[in-house]
Amino acid sequence: MLFEPQTAELRPLLRALDEFVREELYPLERPFLDHDFDVLLPAIEEKRRLAKSLGFWLPQIAAEHGGMGLSLFEHGLVSEVLGRTPLGHYALNCQAPDAGNMEILIEYGTPEQQERFLRPLLAGEVRSCFSMTEPDNPGSNPTWLSTTATKDGDDYVVSGHKWFSTGADGAAFAIVMAVTDPAASRYQRASMIIVPADTPGFHIVRNTSVMGERGQGWASHAEIRYDDCRVPQGNRLGAEGMGFVIAQQRLGPGRIHHCMRWIGICERAFDLMCRHAALRQIAPGRALAEMGQVQAWVAESRAEIDAARLLVLQTAQQIDREGAHAARDGISLIKFHVAGVLQDVLDRAIQVHGAMGMTDETPLAFWYRHERAARIYDGPDEVHKWSVAKRILGRYAS
Ligand SMILES: Cc1cc2nc3c(=O)[nH]c(=O)nc-3n(C[C@H](O)[C@H](O)[C@H](O)COP(=O)(O)OP(=O)(O)OC[C@H]3O[C@@H](n4cnc5c(N)ncnc54)[C@H](O)[C@@H]3O)c2cc1C
Repeated sequence: MLFEPQTAELRPLLRALDEFVREELYPLERPFLDHDFDVLLPAIEEKRRLAKSLGFWLPQIAAEHGGMGLSLFEHGLVSEVLGRTPLGHYALNCQAPDAGNMEILIEYGTPEQQERFLRPLLAGEVRSCFSMTEPDNPGSNPTWLSTTATKDGDDYVVSGHKWFSTGADGAAFAIVMAVTDPAASRYQRASMIIVPADTPGFHIVRNTSVMGERGQGWASHAEIRYDDCRVPQGNRLGAEGMGFVIAQQRLGPGRIHHCMRWIGICERAFDLMCRHAALRQIAPGRALAEMGQVQAWVAESRAEIDAARLLVLQTAQQIDREGAHAARDGISLIKFHVAGVLQDVLDRAIQVHGAMGMTDETPLAFWYRHERAARIYDGPDEVHKWSVAKRILGRYAS
């Protein structure tokens, strides 16, 4: 590794996590790829208990809330190690969307909300989902929402139609973005409201099929109808109209988590590609690794992964030192850049594996299907390019 500005304490932790991932989680990959998530859940829960007993729990959360108390930069390095397997983040209870929801509840939750919703989430006893995107409105313009939360007595009545609420299947509650004041300015129109999944009117319509997989449990993306879900006003997070402010705060660190997870995926794909190229004979005594095209893919991938990693770590460091607002150019740059590197590296790794790359003998095909979405969720590429370019050019204009 070229760039290792890790503290002395972090190095043994990363080594131990690497061992945990290889020895405990790699063996679960084939069953994970072969079965529904719920079938594998008991085995995954066992690994979660083991991780917790080893002190590998909630790396993104402050020690006072039972986490490992890592900085964003440090968590980025942990996320890279965990990203090498599809189950890494889940095993340490730092998977999306729960990780972001925990951060929101810590920052904005009342003591009552923290006791009822945050405590079991941190303990890994329940899961949650984040319900913002709607089928009928563009998710890339999240100020345009049809879901409403209307005050009625001491309650809000939440009505609307959402989809792509990751992990809603089996979640205990949803954090729902809903319009609370249609007359307010664009960015003050919506609030985040906690809707428990057992609220009358909370209906999961289906788990949306993604690249041929409907998924299950945490590994799914649900379409949900909120049919007049009545919840106390005390379920609102933060002040009324703060939904977008909270969402922005959630997204900055969240992008570091995602991008370093993607770097982890790239490293695993790179490793699989190189191993296969070295071992696969394309003629007696002639390894695939001798082919110029394969060598070019290896060289290009190595350079792209290293460069992407530096960009993410630099951004994480800036968020730690100066806050997410100061780092917003970097946050946009890493989001589309790393997603593109991920797609290219996975594609080359699959190509080198030939037909085997299309099977579930390796996690490559799973990632290729599911991480195509990296260029879409948390803001499509085009929106990030547009917003960062606008800021850069604006500085020239002034
Ligand atoms: C696997 C996956 C998981 C997800 N998980 C969640 C979740 O847990 N909770 C949740 O609320 N949402 C989730 N989403 C939804 C995601 O956030 C939205 O898909 C995303 O914001 C884009 O919105 P959209 O799909 O409505 O696309 P649209 O907004 O309709 O955009 C379509 C396309 O138009 C182009 N485009 C849009 N705006 C611009 C622009 N300004 N300039 C140029 N081109 C533009 C882009 O190419 C974009 O891909 C998830 C999505 C996926 C695929």
